[in-house]
Amino acid sequence: MASVNPIRYVGAIPVLIDSETATWNMSPDALRKAFVQAATKGKLPKAVIVVHLYGVVAKIGEIRHICREFGVPLIEDAAESLGSTWHGQMTGTIGDIGFYSFNGNKIITTSGGGMLMMPNEETKQLALKLATQAREDAPHYEHDQVGYNYRLSNVSAGIGRGQLEVIEQRVQARRRVFARYERMFRQLGTTYQREVPYSRANRWLTAMQLDQTELHRDTLMQRLATAGIESRPVWKPMHLQPVYRDAEYVTVDGEDVSRRLFKNGICLPSGSDLTLVEQQQVIQTVLDTRSIVAEQSV
Ligand SMILES: *Cc1c(COP(=O)(O)O)cnc(C)c1O
Repeated sequence: MASVNPIRYVGAIPVLIDSETATWNMSPDALRKAFVQAATKGKLPKAVIVVHLYGVVAKIGEIRHICREFGVPLIEDAAESLGSTWHGQMTGTIGDIGFYSFNGNKIITTSGGGMLMMPNEETKQLALKLATQAREDAPHYEHDQVGYNYRLSNVSAGIGRGQLEVIEQRVQARRRVFARYERMFRQLGTTYQREVPYSRANRWLTAMQLDQTELHRDTLMQRLATAGIESRPVWKPMHLQPVYRDAEYVTVDGEDVSRRLFKNGICLPSGSDLTLVEQQQVIQTVLDTRSIVAEQSV
């Protein structure tokens, strides 16, 4: 929701773009289709917001290329992908503007808040002004427009600076968690978000698809819950959310990829501090569920 709601805050109308099956992020083909449709109507969007879901880098090269072709700025929602890179460059700095979240559930946290990545001094000053109640540089607090109170406190920023030092260790820990799941479930037929060439995901959360296994998502979630293990479905796509039911949604050839990814997708415990023993319990529960399902189907 946090990616889409700001569009409404400023009175704009979101157009939702379907996912592709490799990274599960914005489909460049669907984006191009949306642009062509918009250009025909003579009304291009003010910006494109791309998310790097669960820290897996989107097809950002293609997406940036399409945006430049149509002259539309690209905003990177790197809230989940701090530490992920593309050609060695941090996500959040590849588009025209980027942002990170330091919410409690993210790879590093300041308990709340986030950070903007700005392309130049002018844009940075504008953002700082808007985040500070649009205060002008005058001793009596002069205001010529409506601003916000959207700043990170100095205390939070201090925590954040400390946390930044451990980001690489966190990324390595999450990648190890991901690699173990992938290795242990190989025989089940589970599939995962793929890394595009020259990208490195922080694997903030391990999410997997069950459509090529004998496992049903809700059954598996139930078994995990019984074993005291928290899991979640893959984020519900925005076009299926009641609040954005009426939003325009662009897919390629009428195929609803994001709905399919949601239906069969599950997020597993992936914390940087997940111990080997804890992860082994998750793995064993999944394997046991698979055995029970297989027996029942005989
Ligand atoms: C967490 C998150 C945000 C921002 O969350 P805040 O709680 O506002 O910091 C934005 N987009 C995505 C994809 C997120 O996961």
